[in-house]
Amino acid sequence: MLTDYHLHLRPDEKDARAADHFTVENASRYRERARELGIDELGVSEHVHRFAQALTISDHPWYRHWASDDLDEYCAFVREQTDLRLGIEVDYLPGREDRLAELVATRDFDYVVGSVHFVDGAIVDLLGDERWRDYDVWRLHDPDTVWRRYFELLADAVRSGLFDILAHPDLVKVQGRSGPWPERDPRYYWEPTLEALAESDVAVEFSTAGWRKPIGEPYPDEGFLRECLALGRVVALSSDAHRPDQIGYRYDEAVERLGALGVERIAVFERRSRRLEPLG
Ligand SMILES: [Zn+2]
Ligand SMILES: [Zn+2]
Repeated sequence: MLTDYHLHLRPDEKDARAADHFTVENASRYRERARELGIDELGVSEHVHRFAQALTISDHPWYRHWASDDLDEYCAFVREQTDLRLGIEVDYLPGREDRLAELVATRDFDYVVGSVHFVDGAIVDLLGDERWRDYDVWRLHDPDTVWRRYFELLADAVRSGLFDILAHPDLVKVQGRSGPWPERDPRYYWEPTLEALAESDVAVEFSTAGWRKPIGEPYPDEGFLRECLALGRVVALSSDAHRPDQIGYRYDEAVERLGALGVERIAVFERRSRRLEPLG
């Protein structure tokens, strides 16, 4: 079994409208590409900040800029017009746990993907987007602070129990080692998250998206993943595709790496219950 659960039906652009991308034709392009690659389990997880209902969670300028579509229309489209699993990618925002819980509990998702993109109101993965420079965490804080806070927030995200899958666990490395990089060994920063993962049952995402980014590595780091596996955590496999041709990106290598780490089964979700299926 191969899965691709962390998918977006459209690119991250304001003019990529729901009406043009949440269509049967577009969904079948994703399904078609998955079939070519032997990926049976396919689900979508659109960003929560693209939906008007997200404004009940946050009024951050990022949310106010993006939140325009209707979440229930998205859910109805995926359920009624496609054979894709229904997921959503939700930012962990501290202090907003009750609102996040309410938003997901009132819809019948197959799984909820939890992400940390925000560190204390600033964004980790803008990759130099000048339009948002005032919210670029790398302009506001030194790398040591960003990494420390990122993994503390990720720990809180794990402890919140809100999520089925922990997305791109070390996204903070996205810019690569030639960008701002902390002085200490990454293991020092991972510690709070690993402590939280020891007491949690959340699936840890192996995301091939990092191979498409300046860091040029999958998420998470192999050392981080080894620690997760030693704690008994299970793996969810995804590409974080934003276009059909990104589905299953470098999955051959992903399967090989996971196999080398002793991962024999991966997480499969349905109506927020999880089972494990043989990998491959
Ligand atoms: Zn993300
Ligand atoms: Zn994503």
